[in-house]
Amino acid sequence: MAPSLPRRARVVIVGGGVIGCSIAYHLTKLGWNEVVLLERKQLTSGTTWHAAGLIGQLRQSINMTRLARYTSELYRGLEAETGQATGYRQCGSISLASTAGRMEELERNASMAKVFGLQVDVVSRKEIGALYPLANLEDVIGGIHIPSDGYGNAVDITHALAKGARSRGAQIFQDVKVTAISNDGRRVSGVETAHGRIEADYVVLCAGLWSRELAASIGVSVPLQACEHYYVLFQNVPGLDPNLPVLRDYDHCSYFKYDAGKLLVGAFEPHARPWGTQGIPEDFAFGEIAGDFAHFEPVLLDAMRRIPALEQAGIQKFFCGPESFTPDVRYHLGESSELERLFVAAGLNSIGLQSAGGIGKVISEWMQAGHPPIDLWEVDVRRALPFQRNRKYLEARVQESLGLLYATHWPYRQYETARGARKSTLHDRLAAAGACFGEAFGWERANWYGAPGTTPRYEYSYGRQNWFERCAREHRAVREAVGLFDQSSFAKFRLEGIDALRVLNRICANEVDVDPGRIVYTQWLNERGGIEADLTVTRLSESAYLIVSGAETESKDFNWLTRHVHAGARCVATNVTSGMGVLSIMGPRSRELLQSLTPDDLSNAAFPFGTSRLIELGYALVRASRITYVGELGFELYIPTEFMQGVYDEIIAAGAPFGLVHAGYHALNSLRIEKAYRHWGHDITDEDTPLEAGLGFAVKLDKAAGFVGQEALRAQRERGVTKRLLQLKLESPEPLLYHNEPIWRGREIVGFIRSGMYGHTLGAAIGLGYVAWPLGAGDELAEERYEIEVAGVRWPAQASLRPMYDPKNLRIKA
Ligand SMILES: Cc1cc2nc3c(=O)[nH]c(=O)nc-3n(C[C@H](O)[C@H](O)[C@H](O)COP(=O)(O)OP(=O)(O)OC[C@H]3O[C@@H](n4cnc5c(N)ncnc54)[C@H](O)[C@@H]3O)c2cc1C
Repeated sequence: MAPSLPRRARVVIVGGGVIGCSIAYHLTKLGWNEVVLLERKQLTSGTTWHAAGLIGQLRQSINMTRLARYTSELYRGLEAETGQATGYRQCGSISLASTAGRMEELERNASMAKVFGLQVDVVSRKEIGALYPLANLEDVIGGIHIPSDGYGNAVDITHALAKGARSRGAQIFQDVKVTAISNDGRRVSGVETAHGRIEADYVVLCAGLWSRELAASIGVSVPLQACEHYYVLFQNVPGLDPNLPVLRDYDHCSYFKYDAGKLLVGAFEPHARPWGTQGIPEDFAFGEIAGDFAHFEPVLLDAMRRIPALEQAGIQKFFCGPESFTPDVRYHLGESSELERLFVAAGLNSIGLQSAGGIGKVISEWMQAGHPPIDLWEVDVRRALPFQRNRKYLEARVQESLGLLYATHWPYRQYETARGARKSTLHDRLAAAGACFGEAFGWERANWYGAPGTTPRYEYSYGRQNWFERCAREHRAVREAVGLFDQSSFAKFRLEGIDALRVLNRICANEVDVDPGRIVYTQWLNERGGIEADLTVTRLSESAYLIVSGAETESKDFNWLTRHVHAGARCVATNVTSGMGVLSIMGPRSRELLQSLTPDDLSNAAFPFGTSRLIELGYALVRASRITYVGELGFELYIPTEFMQGVYDEIIAAGAPFGLVHAGYHALNSLRIEKAYRHWGHDITDEDTPLEAGLGFAVKLDKAAGFVGQEALRAQRERGVTKRLLQLKLESPEPLLYHNEPIWRGREIVGFIRSGMYGHTLGAAIGLGYVAWPLGAGDELAEERYEIEVAGVRWPAQASLRPMYDPKNLRIKA
């Protein structure tokens, strides 16, 4: 019988896996009515039905751990709330380390967990033996134990969420496939099905493996690709105890879970096999894949060494099912860049069950409030770039993604697959100069330069990696002479037309009604005063602006800009990222070097800090902008792409007498953190305001025409802030900071490090992080005793509200 669908809904949720059902559950909990969920086959029939059921809480970042932790708490009470069994059991979990690097990773994560009070115990081999007597631990150094972790039954949990949603009015239709998402080019308006159309204010796409294609059909990028994912069920395992915790053996790519009288052994092998690359069969439901036992076998052999009792057990089931993976192993959440009110929750990278509760909560709160409830940038679908839905790219990358779940998360680890997607025109020249490239958002970027005659290659560790001294050399050259950075990956936009000023001044917190040739450092804020973007805006003429921001936010920022160009505004925004390369010539001798190549006057009087103009260089006219992200005298050169090589060759040919060196992104990071220049996405996010971030100097609070976020900032200035960004320098030169390390003030954790890097001039690791700031407390709070916890050890640190390097900006204005 054909279902009788409503003709209208407030929201249509596409997909009845654990994610869709959790969103329906949470929306109705917020009081939303007219919530409709459409499932093409049966609830759970995609990936959810075969989830192994692990529900862990500790992730690689603070906010992702928050989501997983909320999920655990929700599942604990779900059966009592809905009357539907969930199979949830709090058995605890153990993660093993067989290498020193892994042990440090686990210890660092255990420290991070303290920031929000999740109990994570660092345990010895002996303690692990007592908790998990079945394991052979001869190669194990130690591990961590999380007593509140557990497991559950994914099908039952999904049905419990669906039941909870239905009890509050949600309508769930099975065997109804969404055939199209309707929209007017700017906003969604509903969905089409074989049984008719539903008009809707919102559509939420949580169609698992199917999401990429459905999104692409309306020009939306949700880059994900299914891979085979394996486990085996062993029966008759001698000594198997239902009270065993979940065991994760990261270094051998496996996990072990008690499963109704059997032992489930799952794999996260280093090289995965993409699945469904030619499309997913139309009738695929509760589907299994034949899989390849030989592919799984190496993991299985290691697993049998870990649990010798498996030798005497029998394999009851060899299972392989599809799950979606993403290019950066982070899922896709939130409102799409391309279409208003189209929300996405897909690409769960094999942690969908343990994430679903948190995802349902944050997506529903996001839809309710119109903004994310916490900083979710790391998983925000707006980071996706259109090229990432290219299938060749995805098929190559996801082979690596699956294994990265269990690989050691080395600092600075670079992807090995799908490389070379986006290259600066200088790529081959930089390679010849010894560049070791890293990948960022598809771009190949020089991170550091190897010594002549060597092949630059990363050797990873948590300590000083093999490029440490090379980076130090580049850093010093920029502080003492001059360095060349290729920053072509900057996102660059033009806004042109007689309303350009009006549109831009409304979204910039700083004043951009300045003379042509002036550069303005500014933030774009949301209505709450949180920082949505951190950029420079150069006025090119009365009616044209150049807007420059980071590579990672190209889609998000361009979308923010175009969404603020309201109908009727007489101006046009263009993304000109590909049209211009950027060379940054930075250091005290940068002026001399460039002056030797141009007839234009680069003197401080003629070309002061904060200005920009066209200059002749080589055979080109390039835009030189006197700004810096490294805290030295310097010029960013914006060069039409086809002139890049010629200009570069001229600069290199002239550079030696001035001490010019090639410098990479690691040196850039070391230089900028000494100057406490903030980095969007880490040090400043949509949760942080300029007043908290110490960026009040870049806000024109009394701007007459007003700006987005002005009211919130005014109110905050009246009220006072409750957190402030500090620059912290470890007193010991030894430990290294990366991110997420807890900050102690006296006996209390008052914050955590947002970004960290070694400062080669200051001579120690430097971190930026917010600390709690009681209302009314003065600047002297920065002089208290601070410590930063690194892998369980607390290290004293000096703190400062002002940059420790060149606080008076004498060098940049020289
Ligand atoms: C072997 C294996 C073990 C796993 N173990 C764990 C684990 O231990 N812990 C954990 O947290 N995660 C685990 N996972 C991952 C977890 O199962 C997934 O992340 C999660 O189930 C994804 O849920 P979903 O709702 O996004 O996708 P799905 O469950 O696939 O749901 C999407 C639904 O959308 C429907 N749909 C698609 N297109 C349409 C359309 N056009 N119209 C209507 N409906 C549509 C599909 O039929 C499907 O039911 C495991 C995965 C595998 C493969």
